[in-house]
Amino acid sequence: MDETAIRMEELSERIAALKAERNATILAHNYQPSEIQLIADHLGDSLELARLAARLDSDVIAFCGVHFMAESTAVLAPEKTVLLPAADAGCPMADMVAAPALREKKKMHPKAAVVCYINSTAEVKAESDICCTSANAVQVVNSLPDDEIIFVPDRNLGLYVQRFSDKKIITWQGYCLPHHRFTPEDVRRAREEHPEAVVIVHPECTPEVVDLADEVLSTGGMIRFAAETKGKEIIVGTEIGLVERLRRENPDKLFHHATPKLFCINMKKTDLELVEAALESLEPRITVPDDVAAGARRALERMLEVPRAN
Ligand code: 13P
Ligand code: SF4
Repeated sequence: MDETAIRMEELSERIAALKAERNATILAHNYQPSEIQLIADHLGDSLELARLAARLDSDVIAFCGVHFMAESTAVLAPEKTVLLPAADAGCPMADMVAAPALREKKKMHPKAAVVCYINSTAEVKAESDICCTSANAVQVVNSLPDDEIIFVPDRNLGLYVQRFSDKKIITWQGYCLPHHRFTPEDVRRAREEHPEAVVIVHPECTPEVVDLADEVLSTGGMIRFAAETKGKEIIVGTEIGLVERLRRENPDKLFHHATPKLFCINMKKTDLELVEAALESLEPRITVPDDVAAGARRALERMLEVPRAN
């Protein structure tokens, strides 16, 4: 074993001991680096992890992901200590809508309901009627009685939902940079290189990319699709961490990453050292003021009541 492997093993053992000592659970998003995926108690998409957060019985949750995910966990599990090991791991899209600007938009469309993507701050959630994730956005929008919907912050996800809804969807101008810069040309090139492969993409991709895909799925949907499909080759149009999980769990299948542009720098900020330090010191801790948390919890819990489709 080389020095790095020995260090990783030591860290993993230390993390396991700290977890037992603290009665802690490690939740990790599907985009996390492999070293984190391997030590996580639960690995999943935003919806799966939010559902788990609401019912775990540990005292401490170390959330390996980005800030809005840990914040949603703190909102859904207010009695637990929620840690975000990489304190500066944010999601730039979540910061593309702020509560005052959303309040102005609501005044302009007083009859519209507000649906906010879980990739948003707790303040924005508190201003919204209901949250959604990429796994349930269509079901959430169509579950509402309102004919007009303000959808924040992801324009691409809002446009994707519009394909499956008769409601008028008023989109915001937010986007995820890694998914937004993935182009139709990238899809065409990947298909030329791998003509036998099916193309699966995330709904944060642009409509032009969605038009060229065979399947449009959340990261959890992609995990299920890859396990169930009879196809042996898949071009994956989302962040590289998901491809690492797919390769590990489906050794008999071939996965091609659609483009190296699909790389989220914030999701790569967590490492084993930071997880160990967080469990040791119980910092950095994510907390949400009670008044904001109450509003955000209402929007998140309302989402969790919508039956899941994929
Ligand atoms: P999922 O909910 O599909 O895992 O997506 C989260 C995300 O941040 C996508 O960029
Ligand atoms: Fe945010 Fe995009 Fe990274 Fe997901 S991949 S966390 S939406 S920046």
